[in-house]
Amino acid sequence: MTTVSLQNVTKYYTPNAPAAVHSLNLELAPGSILALLGPSGCGKTTTLKLIAGLLQPEEGRIWFDGQDVTGLAAEQRNAVMVFQHHALFPFMSVGANIGFGLKIRKMEKKLIAQRVREMLELVQLPGMQNRMPAELSGGQQQRVALARALVTRPRLLLLDEPLANLDAHLRDEMRGLILDIQKKTAVSTIIVTHDQEEAMMLADRVALMFNGRLVQYDDPETMFRKPVSAQAARFLGVKNIFPAVRDKNQVATAFGQLQLDAEDAYTVVDGPCMLAFRSEHIRIAGVHDVNIFSALIKSRTYLGLRVSYLALLDGTEVQFLCEAQEVKFSAGEIVSLCLPFEHITLLPLQDPQLH
Ligand code: ATP
Repeated sequence: MTTVSLQNVTKYYTPNAPAAVHSLNLELAPGSILALLGPSGCGKTTTLKLIAGLLQPEEGRIWFDGQDVTGLAAEQRNAVMVFQHHALFPFMSVGANIGFGLKIRKMEKKLIAQRVREMLELVQLPGMQNRMPAELSGGQQQRVALARALVTRPRLLLLDEPLANLDAHLRDEMRGLILDIQKKTAVSTIIVTHDQEEAMMLADRVALMFNGRLVQYDDPETMFRKPVSAQAARFLGVKNIFPAVRDKNQVATAFGQLQLDAEDAYTVVDGPCMLAFRSEHIRIAGVHDVNIFSALIKSRTYLGLRVSYLALLDGTEVQFLCEAQEVKFSAGEIVSLCLPFEHITLLPLQDPQLH
């Protein structure tokens, strides 16, 4: 159970290009899971490699349990990294792959065999020691890669998009397995992902990065409910984001005026801002609702349990979701929509910077 702390960590690959990671501050609580989330190229893998010791920062310090490990080589940090491409040794059996780290530590053969058995139990592949990697499915190979990483009982497990190559069903299974393994071993874990659902599902804390900078660092629920900026909201799946102007408990938008819940429930002060609401929070208006708008249905997409509609509110395109059983609108229909004030999020025009 290791605490990891990054203080003002900056990494440049090339001197005149922008930093791949810029003045990053992060804290991983012992035995917890941290997800590094963000779009491609935002610096997630670079951060992971800096923590693993595979890269050195130009500025800043990295601490494990209060020990400054910044100058230490990867093999002195006892942090293992599992990559997207599992890279098992193809000419070695599953058992030899898993036991490799112990063999080079010159552990006794009998003990290695025992630890390999334990690891195979842990990743739910009991008795598979003698298979060759080519005889395993992609998901099984990824489990072996996890077992190989954990066999040396590292202080830190670093997972770089470990589920990206798996199909949706296997991904779900592996997420469950990672949570289970993490619970059993209590190894401090950092997982890189660009999938917000995955981050929310696996992590105790999520670090959202854009352009090498940390923009939000929160528990999954807070991140989902209270994104810090329009860019963060968009990345976290909010489809409806519009320019607006706040005046106390009123918000003016291109499609009309909205009433806010309580004046003090919003962090954004009076003036220009962004208004955001999730598609699933818009509903068909009832007689007692406030914030009702007339909408022209533009298109409808069937999603199984739900239907996604695109509608025009006075020329502004809005997306909303309805239960498929509940209603069925057709393109060209006019409907009354309610934007419930308890679901309105107001965001600043500028992204805040966390340092
Ligand atoms: P992805 O999700 O696509 O893996 P990422 O968020 O992990 O992306 P990084 O791989 O950390 O992003 O890259 C951050 C930035 O650093 C990108 O602009 C990338 O082009 C650049 N970069 C990464 N590796 C190198 C390298 N070896 N040399 C030069 N630039 C690099």
